[in-house]
Amino acid sequence: MIFEPEFETLPPDRMRALQSGRLRDLVAYVAARVPMYRDRLSAAGISPDAVRSIDDITRLPITRKSDLRDHYPFGLLAVPQADLRRVHASSGTTGKATVVAYTANDVALFAQVNARALAMAGATPGMLLHNAYGYGLFTGGLGIHYGGERLGMAVVPVSGGMTDRQLTLIQDFRPHVITCTPSYALTLAAEFRRRGIAPDDISLQYALLGAEPWTEGMRRQVDAALGVRSTNIYGLSEIIGPGVSNECVEARDGSHVMEDHFYPEILDPETAAPVADGQEGVLVLTTLTKEALPLLRYWTGDITSLARGACACGRTLVRMRLIKGRTDDMLIIRGVNVYPSQVESVLARVPELAPHYRLVVSRTGTMDELRVESEVTEAYAREVGIEVLSEDVVAADRRLEQLRARISGGLRDTIGVSMAVRLLAPGEAPRSEGGKLNRVVDRRPRD
Ligand code: ADP
Ligand code: ZN
Repeated sequence: MIFEPEFETLPPDRMRALQSGRLRDLVAYVAARVPMYRDRLSAAGISPDAVRSIDDITRLPITRKSDLRDHYPFGLLAVPQADLRRVHASSGTTGKATVVAYTANDVALFAQVNARALAMAGATPGMLLHNAYGYGLFTGGLGIHYGGERLGMAVVPVSGGMTDRQLTLIQDFRPHVITCTPSYALTLAAEFRRRGIAPDDISLQYALLGAEPWTEGMRRQVDAALGVRSTNIYGLSEIIGPGVSNECVEARDGSHVMEDHFYPEILDPETAAPVADGQEGVLVLTTLTKEALPLLRYWTGDITSLARGACACGRTLVRMRLIKGRTDDMLIIRGVNVYPSQVESVLARVPELAPHYRLVVSRTGTMDELRVESEVTEAYAREVGIEVLSEDVVAADRRLEQLRARISGGLRDTIGVSMAVRLLAPGEAPRSEGGKLNRVVDRRPRD
């Protein structure tokens, strides 16, 4: 089902015309209301009426997270504080939290784009939604909640954590759709398995997973273990929260960006020059219709690429690939850029490994070292008959030693750099307890 076909299936030229009009209004709006933008636009010699089409966007200044921090908490608002109806803050994964705010129309837009996202993911009015995204300052919980209601679903506002209770509610209420982080979906899946509940006995049909990077390998695991068809939901609080883009359940071939509201560009991480469709770079988003916190060309730091063209679902909205990582997650290991998601993709192809791993970064002298620590599956641990996988045990066991060599060979061949590999026993790697999971342990000295 397409929630707003009048926008989601617009022919490209009509979408561009809509975006062009909205960009013109946006530039005039921020120039009149936000001192930072007024100063930057005039410093760049751009008068609002010189902006004629969406192509002119490349002339506009870029906004960065530091701009939000510098104007903490409310310095970039384009409306008086009395017009606000909601305030959220980002989870602060990469530093101090940034504060974002919404007018009544922004709250309505937030619901609208999440209703679209849920419909893209397979949800229909009348279905029951188990929402395990955190409620609170984090945008995930409330964003999905309002979207579900807007679509006409009943929403169970479970929030994250308390895994036992999540399972009981899923078994008793029999929801059709679940929303949570991909790492938490794996935690729930493991718990179902522990309780002896087969995927076929779980009522869930669709899962919207996001808020952190994940891979096709994880998708296969979640789909098989929960008996769902999962799609990727992407968003960030600065732009609105979840609902910036979502995969359609039909194709699952890139996430459709709500580009009538959030205009995406891909820029070169070093030079900030636009790159061609299909090429990787940093996703930069412009909020075309937001009132309280409109942003021009917000540098998300997330690495992806765009794909245009017809989609099996009938939507014309441009698609973005799964996020490869953030520019600030990128590790430079002996000169090679390595994203945790690349390591994860290699591990996901090794059948003896469970989808639980951690990356430990350390430094000897001036060299960064990466050690990959990955759990073996319970079945494999039983097969080799070993409970504790200390280095000595692995070194003494030819099967484990061969497995380890196979993994490090795969990493070297795919990523182009050698890394130490350590095998962990089931249960040793960190698990998601509801929110975003940090899999990188940084032991480098702070300079
Ligand atoms: P913070 O920046 O503090 O984590 P947010 O909660 O707004 O604050 O998180 C937004 C970020 O989360 C995005 O910029 C992106 O890095 C990550 N993210 C969100 N959804 C996804 C997704 N589907 N895939 C990969 N990363 C995602
Ligand atoms: Zn589609």
